[in-house]
Amino acid sequence: MQSTMQDAPLLISDIIRHGEWLYADKKIMTVTPDGVEYATFYEVSKRAERLAAALEALGVKRGDRVATFMWNNQTHLEAYIAVPCMGAVLHTLNIRLFPEQLAYIIRHAEDKFIIVDNSLVPLLAKVRDQIPSVKTIIVHGPDETGLLGDTIDYETLIEDQEPGYEWPVLDERSAAIMCYTSGTTGNPKGVVYSHRSTWLHSMASTSANSIGLCEKDRCLLIVPMFHVNAWGAAYTAFLAGTELIMPQMFLQGEPIVKMIRELRPTISLGVPTIWNDVLRAAQLDDEVDFSSLRALLAGGAAVPRVMIEAFRDKYGLDMIQGWGMTETSPLAAVSLPPAGSAPERDIEYRVKAGRVVAGVEVRITDEDGTVLERDGVTVGEFEIRGPWITGSYFGVEDDEKFRDGWLRTGDIGTLDQEGFMVISDRTKDVIKSGGEWISSVELESTMMAHPAVFEAAVIAVPDEKWQERPLCCVVLRPGESATPEELRAFLAARVAKWWLPERWTFIDAVPKTSVGKFDKKVLRAQYHEGELDVIELRP
Ligand code: AMP
Repeated sequence: MQSTMQDAPLLISDIIRHGEWLYADKKIMTVTPDGVEYATFYEVSKRAERLAAALEALGVKRGDRVATFMWNNQTHLEAYIAVPCMGAVLHTLNIRLFPEQLAYIIRHAEDKFIIVDNSLVPLLAKVRDQIPSVKTIIVHGPDETGLLGDTIDYETLIEDQEPGYEWPVLDERSAAIMCYTSGTTGNPKGVVYSHRSTWLHSMASTSANSIGLCEKDRCLLIVPMFHVNAWGAAYTAFLAGTELIMPQMFLQGEPIVKMIRELRPTISLGVPTIWNDVLRAAQLDDEVDFSSLRALLAGGAAVPRVMIEAFRDKYGLDMIQGWGMTETSPLAAVSLPPAGSAPERDIEYRVKAGRVVAGVEVRITDEDGTVLERDGVTVGEFEIRGPWITGSYFGVEDDEKFRDGWLRTGDIGTLDQEGFMVISDRTKDVIKSGGEWISSVELESTMMAHPAVFEAAVIAVPDEKWQERPLCCVVLRPGESATPEELRAFLAARVAKWWLPERWTFIDAVPKTSVGKFDKKVLRAQYHEGELDVIELRP
């Protein structure tokens, strides 16, 4: 029997129409070197219509890839609206990739057009002669460098166009946006989001059981718009009426603390590395004021317990942990303590990766694909499925990443009866000592609770007796000191004895990936090249 419901496609243009009408006066705030630029949802939407008309006049057709090489700013949001709504595909390029990887993904995606911020022109110019598919480059902001050859000025381009572009009715399953994984092993792989997946993901982000973005919110969007669509927040903003603060290149702790005080966001999204830097800067700032915030969302990497405690104890601020991947749009799980749980257990829930949001299913499996118990003890690989989880990669076969319609995440951990996921490692980062797993994530989180430690990363190194043992790479806080013996004694009181690292090294900073996570691949290479000064304690 057929239902009697109307069969309306789920299109991004509907999200935009909804937002520009109901929340017309809500603001997009872009932080610039000369102050804050404000625009309303209505204005942004009308400028996006003019951009779509201009792109069409330039020859952009349905399905064409239009890339962006930009900071988080209003213009980037205009491209976020115009490109998918007109039926083309927005490809958000990661501005921090190595030139070879950047050129590779532009060629692989066959981008024809690129919109670039003027401050990023020199970076894009490094690959200009390696990207023959690109016909037209549009520069946002004045650029007299000439580094990119013939370009078009963004404002001049849209100036000639009228608003009122009619968004076409598209197939909801058609490609809307694409984003490449950060490619920590091998080449980055392309994930293509549809209008439908984006719509459903945006709805999920408004649920009070997830991050609950709503009309009362003003969101400081620190996560880059090239990192999984800024975790979907740009579209959720128009769906929910959430205002956005776009920080552009001001991403260090000090300007963020100032932005929070002056622009008064209610929520902010970023990776733990950012929040660690914000905590550092906040301690040095006499006027710190976090009173506008209802929560901080941290995701993309495990959130250390000490960080959650510090924001709670010093600033009365809740951290919500989110778990997801480029492949999962990304919001797949959120760690909110269940209703009725004892306040003293609050932190026990917040340190976990989270529970899946409605629409997403999770299971853990062993190497053979046998589904394991959800008992909070049995360790396996997380597998995920749902309407905003990718079912393949763009233009490459990678059968190993999928099993019976489930995405194999490469994340290892446990799932408990309440549905909470605990991530102990990435498959490629696990430390297998004498056949047993040591969680590098747990060791790092525990080590970072030491007052002298700013950052700690733990990697597996070969060991004659145990095959692998942990090497603890420590960054001390400025002016602080600690010996490996002291740090080991600190850990000894908190983790199993056989986990305790014998090998220690002090480094200036943990290398970071293009999206700001710990880059253990680089640390492993440095170790193997003999570049790390390793101190070995007797077991
Ligand atoms: P990306 O595709 O760059 O967003 O990276 C996805 C990966 O980040 C996941 O597979 C996890 O390994 C890691 N990740 C994301 N969120 C969390 C979290 N809350 N805890 C631990 N790891 C996380």
